[in-house]
Amino acid sequence: MVKRILMILFSKIVIGTAVMDYMLHAIRLAKIAQDRNEVPVGAVLVKNNHIIAQAHNACETNHNSLYHAEMLAIHQGIQHLQSMYLNECTLYVTLEPCPMCAAAIAQSRVGKIVFGAYDPKSGGVEHGPKIFEHSHFCPQIIGGVHESQCAKLLKIFFQNKRYKTNSRSSIFHGN
Ligand SMILES: [Zn+2]
Repeated sequence: MVKRILMILFSKIVIGTAVMDYMLHAIRLAKIAQDRNEVPVGAVLVKNNHIIAQAHNACETNHNSLYHAEMLAIHQGIQHLQSMYLNECTLYVTLEPCPMCAAAIAQSRVGKIVFGAYDPKSGGVEHGPKIFEHSHFCPQIIGGVHESQCAKLLKIFFQNKRYKTNSRSSIFHGN
């Protein structure tokens, strides 16, 4: 317990309270996604300590598999700044970006990314194709911020989904 408190204090000092707060905001957005039966991922784009864009996954709602939180936040940010590039922005996202989003981050040159949970299965930053290792552009990267909170949201969401699918299939099979 003491070790955990020290870890939290240490991460606050090293990473900074603002970073933690923006991630908490991204977590709130992820919870909105969850309420809408979307995979709970939230993203916040920040420039000069101001949130200029925020989004959550919206694939199911829009019947569009490209509507990941990061893609939507980047798109909003570009529109807001009327600029192709987001070098001075930081993207906070609750889950390690997938290869598609990592490539979009590189294309739009987001200066820094901060993510929560690691995604060994579908991530594209620290896992899988590790997009930035093969990219013309590499942002600053901080992973694992509020990791357990972000991961827990996803874990519960997929557990419930599996439960629903299983109970539905039992009805279909008359069990
Ligand atoms: Zn993605």
